[in-house]
Amino acid sequence: MGGNSPVRLQSMTNTDTNDIDASVLQCIRLIKAGAELVRFTTQGLREVESLKKIHHLLNEKNYLAPLVADVHFNPLVAEAAAQCVEKVRINPGNYVKSIKANHSGDYTEKEFNLEYQKLKEQFIRLINICKEHRTAIRIGVNHGSLSERIMNRYGDTPEGLVASCIEFLQICKEENFSDVVVSIKASNTVLMIHAVRKLVKEMEQKGFHYPIHLGVTEAGEGEDGRIKSAVGIGTLLADGIGDTIRVSLSEEPEDEIPVAQQLVSYIAERKQHEKIFAQINPSWSPFEYSRRKTQAVANIGGNHPPVVFTSTQKKFSISPDYYIEGRKIYNDTGKIFSVYLPNEIPLLKKDPSEIKFLRLTYPDLTSEVFSLLKERKDVVILLFTKHKNGAAEQRAFFHTLMNEDISAPVIIVRNYWENNLESLQIKASVDIGMLFVDGFGDGILLQNEGAILSEDINSLSFGILQATRVRISKTEYISCPGCGRTLFDLQKVVTQIKAKTSQLRGLKIAVMGCIVNGPGEMADADYGYVGTGKGKVSLYKGKQCVLKNIPEEEAVNKLIELIKINGDWQ
Ligand code: SF4
Repeated sequence: MGGNSPVRLQSMTNTDTNDIDASVLQCIRLIKAGAELVRFTTQGLREVESLKKIHHLLNEKNYLAPLVADVHFNPLVAEAAAQCVEKVRINPGNYVKSIKANHSGDYTEKEFNLEYQKLKEQFIRLINICKEHRTAIRIGVNHGSLSERIMNRYGDTPEGLVASCIEFLQICKEENFSDVVVSIKASNTVLMIHAVRKLVKEMEQKGFHYPIHLGVTEAGEGEDGRIKSAVGIGTLLADGIGDTIRVSLSEEPEDEIPVAQQLVSYIAERKQHEKIFAQINPSWSPFEYSRRKTQAVANIGGNHPPVVFTSTQKKFSISPDYYIEGRKIYNDTGKIFSVYLPNEIPLLKKDPSEIKFLRLTYPDLTSEVFSLLKERKDVVILLFTKHKNGAAEQRAFFHTLMNEDISAPVIIVRNYWENNLESLQIKASVDIGMLFVDGFGDGILLQNEGAILSEDINSLSFGILQATRVRISKTEYISCPGCGRTLFDLQKVVTQIKAKTSQLRGLKIAVMGCIVNGPGEMADADYGYVGTGKGKVSLYKGKQCVLKNIPEEEAVNKLIELIKINGDWQ
């Protein structure tokens, strides 16, 4: 992992680790599907013993993929696991108990340092065991589960996530331990991208060159899970960041691998592309979101949410804003607008209509085009690309407009030739999603030549806008992938909840498998459904638990009641 090795694909079992037969079988299925590392929930010493047996049985059958113990809360479990598997994941957020467990209030400098010393001593013990057994460590930080100490100083912010990683990496450096990989995950793709970029910058400044593990937590399932993962992981891979990835879906773990494979190979296709020359705009930051300032032309640009175009005229479950047919564009009231090419600028200037669409690619940016865009406030750009690295070329286009002080709104246009919906979801989410994360784009026009339903393409366009948080048009489901801690049939419950709540625009509903990590990691969900024991569920309104340990059979209906009582049912 790291160096010149390919990006490694990994996944995690969702079996009970103590169910050795089921775990071995699922692990074999994962390895056969292409997983190069497999992680197991390892809550306690009993699970370490099971993992030892699983490791032995797999090796006997000649399945030699490295196994990873996923440990939270108990350093002793990490130390035991480090002696029997190839890698241990720890979460700095819960590696040692807070010294302020019994009293609240801000940390004094002395308390802050005292707790750091405690975790350092504990972590060095693990490092020494890992050195002896040649075991690797992942420092896995998650948004929503930072330590009290870090929260107290930085809040649950990208800076806190980065600081939490860096202090553990610093210990690795001091101890001359380099078999370490680091991750920052969040369910909010935009936050995750910015935090990982910050981490990489800070690591570079400190001379830390440890591999990076990428993932979007609680990405959900189906279309949403694929879009979120592709936006989050794909944007960073396209930046050149990432040495191993895990796509987390609330589905069978084997389903994660083809998504991961396609993501990695799609990014690899753009290697050796023709160079794109451009100047980065000095006011733009890769570390925080800021939308490019544009003038509003009708309902496009300005403060309007990005608009969605379709090239099929029909009724969709979410209505697009514009329909394009050849060189004509129709709005939802049937008004018709023309599309001009760069050599038709004189014609465009005579057009009296409210919006003039100008079709451009990056190489079309000439002084004549710049003058038109500076002079006119009624032009909307349809930005096409034919470049092998189309997203980078389109990114160059936006920076050039900013450098020229041009505030014309831009519709990002991408054309694909796909017959497979999953491939289209992955490619479009990476290409278009990364631009919206950059703050670019006032609309989206996604066209496909293959056999994919227009309803699916329209839903994908809205999904990309939702995953990049620039336009919320449907309920967002934050659901964990499930693991050995999951206390109910996660996939079934997600399907049930989706079926009953999918009409609720703009709500975030979390479905989390366990009480240990669920409440922290369901991030900024409005409502949460969390497994608390066998057959028992707790329901949350925001961060507050409002119904504790209710029987599982009643929980979905109680969740609906809760949403209704709080006035969020539409
Ligand atoms: S929330 Fe709990 S059940 Fe879900 S993946 Fe995380 S640890 Fe496993």
